[in-house]
This record gives sequence, structure tokens and C-alpha cells, in this order.
Amino acid sequence: MSRGRFGMRAAGVAALAAVVSLLLLGCTRSKPAADAEWPDKPGPKVVVSFAPLYCFAANVAGDDAIVRNVMTTSGPHDFNPTADHVRLLTKADLLFAVGLGLDPQTEQMQKGSGNAKLKLVELGKSIPKDKLCEGHCEHAHHAADHKHDDDPHVWLSPDHAAIMVNAIRDELKAADPVHAAGYDARAAGYVARLGALKAYGLEKFKGKKDNRLVSFHDSLAYFEKCYGLEIRGVLTQKAGQEPDDKQMKKLIRICADENKPTRVIAVEPQYSNSTSGETLKKELVAKGVKNPVLVEIDTLETVRPDDLTPDWYEKKMRENIDKLAAALE
Ligand SMILES: [Zn+2]
Repeated sequence: MSRGRFGMRAAGVAALAAVVSLLLLGCTRSKPAADAEWPDKPGPKVVVSFAPLYCFAANVAGDDAIVRNVMTTSGPHDFNPTADHVRLLTKADLLFAVGLGLDPQTEQMQKGSGNAKLKLVELGKSIPKDKLCEGHCEHAHHAADHKHDDDPHVWLSPDHAAIMVNAIRDELKAADPVHAAGYDARAAGYVARLGALKAYGLEKFKGKKDNRLVSFHDSLAYFEKCYGLEIRGVLTQKAGQEPDDKQMKKLIRICADENKPTRVIAVEPQYSNSTSGETLKKELVAKGVKNPVLVEIDTLETVRPDDLTPDWYEKKMRENIDKLAAALE
């Protein structure tokens, strides 16, 4: 069903309109949103594709570099760059994306900017091949332009996040060697915090007999591996698309398996008008699965511009962990 995706797009346009009207009103508050201008300040100018990368880059940048995020209320599955986004890139030095097929819009944006010195860095490429998962889905997941089969949702594991943080550190040091020591120190500090985030989740999930869940879109494989959970199936084959009868029947069969009953169904705030989670829950009640429950897990693909602070990633990850730990028995 495409209504949700169009809705998301409309919300993105509305958010942009809000940013533009704030600028017209002379609001000078600095926002990590898609402002088209750069402040008059020395240091590398860094653009990131979406919110988790903003947090990773901002924590390494400190006051030595300026970081801007482009995707806000429209995440990588639904995003279309505007002229403002491309304009931001005309004066940027670095453009960080995940790659792995997640955010191919960044290639167009780099080309469209006409900025020959702008370097596009796909951070997913810094993750060793043996640490990448294959997508669970049977069909092309990430848009029409489905180039490879690696699951791109790498930011949902703090271990993988740390690898990307170190890659960001290396790019910033190369762009701005004078401040290398600062980038090193801040990256090390943030990687330590990511270690604490991993430990927090492991502690919360420790001793759960029931560690099984169904994920909403095929996004939680790295989260699953990092925290020792078991994803038994995926509701939507493509973000925002409702499952067909065949897929729903298969999921019901998997979840109602007596040996491995699965009662936790992840849904996503980005696709809150989807009814598939509720449908699956009802079917599982009918099949005698005890206490099926919907849990809202945010895959961090979208953000309200005002919410985006450097600690947003850690905060949202902890919220996900808390909700899931409360639901698993
Ligand atoms: Zn996704």
C-alpha cells in the first residue's frame, strides 16, 4: 500500500516548508536540519544522509567541523533530494552515506552539486564483508535500484556503528590534519559510549527465555546479532508495503509453531498507519499463541528536525531496548 509512503513524502515537504518559513521570519537558531546555508566558521563542512550518521559525525567533529543532516521526516526509503539539499553540497567537503543500497540518492546529490572537491564516502564499505548480513527478504528491498544483497541497516548494531565512527574519524583527520588529535580523542570517547550502549542492551536481554520476534520491515538483522535475539520473520517485504496473503499465512505458521511460539511483533512509528501488525496479532490469538504483543521499534530512519541532537542515536537505541526488553519474557 503506497498511501503511507505518499503521506511520509507530504510530511517531508511540510517540514521543509516549516524550515523555510522559519528562515523567512529571520529565525537564526542553528538547526541540524536541511538549512541551505553554512555558518561562517572554519573547519570541514560535512553533510550526512540521515540521522544516525549525524550523531556519529557530530560526536567526532566536536567544534572542529560542521555537520549537517539532510533526511529528516522522509527516511532513506522515501527521500527525494530538493534543490536546497543540493545547494548545501556546493560548499561541502564531505558527504557521508551508508551505501549498501540504502541511500543511493547521495550519488545524485553529489553529481548535482557540481562540486568537484566534494568527497562521497559510503561508510558501509568500511564494514568487513564477513560482518555484513544478507537481507532476509525474498524481493528487492531497497528501492528499484537494488544493486546488491547486503542488508544496509548496519547502524542498528553499536558494533557496526563503531566501525563507521572510526571511518568518519579517518576522513575528518585526512581533511583537517591540524585537528587530528581532537578527532582521535572524540572518536575514542564516542566508541566507548557505543560499547556502553551494547552492554546496556545485553544486560536488559540477559536471561530472557523468549527472545523471539517478528520484525516489521527487514531492518533488525544487525540488532538481532548484536543482542542475541531471534528474528523469526518479516512483516513487510518492502518498507511501507503491506504483506500479501501468502506472506501473512507463512508468518502465522512460523509464529504459531509450538516449539518456538513467537509473540512479539515489531511495528514502526514511521509506518504507523500499517495494520499488518494488528492483523498478525489477532491471527495469533486465534491460533492460541499466548499474549501476542505489538512493540514499537524505531529503526532510526527518520527524525523530527528539532529532536536531532548528537546524543539522539543513543537515546533512541536505549528506548528500543527498553521497550523490547519489557515485552520479551
Ligand atoms: Zn530500512
